Amino acid sequence: MRIKDILERTIPISRYADSCIPSGGLTTSLVAVVTDVLRNGKPVVGYGYSSVGRFAQGGLIRDRFLPRLMAAREEMLLDDAGTNLDPFRAWEVMMADEKPGGHGERCVAVGTLDMALWDAAAKIGRQPLWQLLSERLDRPTVKPSVRVYAGGGYRYPGNDISRLADEMRAFVDLGFTHAKIKIGADELVEDVRRVEAAASSLRDSQRLAVDAIYRYDRVTGTAAASALAPFKLWWFEDICDPLDFETQAHVAALYEPSIAAGEALFSLAEAKLLDAHGGLRRERDILEFDPVHCYGLPGYLKIVEHLSHKGWPRHAFWPHGGQLFSLHVVAALGLGGAEVNPFAFHPFCGLTDAAQVTSEGVELPKAPGIGFELNCAVRRCFETAFTDL
Ligand code: MG
Repeated sequence: MRIKDILERTIPISRYADSCIPSGGLTTSLVAVVTDVLRNGKPVVGYGYSSVGRFAQGGLIRDRFLPRLMAAREEMLLDDAGTNLDPFRAWEVMMADEKPGGHGERCVAVGTLDMALWDAAAKIGRQPLWQLLSERLDRPTVKPSVRVYAGGGYRYPGNDISRLADEMRAFVDLGFTHAKIKIGADELVEDVRRVEAAASSLRDSQRLAVDAIYRYDRVTGTAAASALAPFKLWWFEDICDPLDFETQAHVAALYEPSIAAGEALFSLAEAKLLDAHGGLRRERDILEFDPVHCYGLPGYLKIVEHLSHKGWPRHAFWPHGGQLFSLHVVAALGLGGAEVNPFAFHPFCGLTDAAQVTSEGVELPKAPGIGFELNCAVRRCFETAFTDL
């Protein structure tokens, strides 16, 4: 078997259910890995996208990483039997001659292609991805469901508190027991109002996480920590610049409840620095590395394995991004749980159309691959982007 073609398209994506609300011109890359394996007369195609929050990576994909895959000899991309793709081998091909450091966003480009390679491999193997991963990674015990929380709660340009409250009620109506909202307004009092409004829809504020999107410095982060502490929140995320370990450690030293970090760190080298200097507490803090942004699954695995070896519990890992891909990764690796964006980042909001959220979490998809085809809007998005397939 072989890869016949790899295609890439850029699409706009919005943080809001109402895409008319300005969202910073955010985009993501879609990719399709077309194989020569036929099912019902059609080629098996693996799909992937660049997760959310870091923009599309079309240039890097088209100019650098896609050509390496297309130029590779067949056996460099296949398993020993030569009957399926081996995404780990494909990853080595993509990363050939890449120097350490300077991660930039090349890791996102690689992770996007990696997602599509896994989707294709699982489809060819006629397995849902979580099952393929549990076999490949020798982790035979996979729980049938994954814990999830609803991510969203971005600041609205008008009627912010009332629209936030509506969004939170909609999360609860969908079955979510835990949620995360954004903070980091100019005035701390506004953030406290947001927390109070959001927490009132959940059973208590201990089910609410907040994300400051790196807004604070040492002074404002200290003030925010002191204002948030009485709420005993689920976690306090992305407090300051992702590489400002000094500020983060300072806040962690005086903030008792859980904090979360790692979403904007993309390599094992950076993860080691976070662990060594970020002041994180292994018994209660949360690690949010995004598998797609961390050079795909092979890069993410290096981080999970290293930090697990250093004493971090697997339940501390809650990947950022809300991709269906991460649901499989969390299940196969036995991690804490996954983010879901019920309304943001259409069409990649929610999971599959049939997914039911309960206090136990979400059941794993059973269709071969990642299961993008089980979500009508996502399926339509890929079909529209790649009409020539
Ligand atoms: Mg975040």
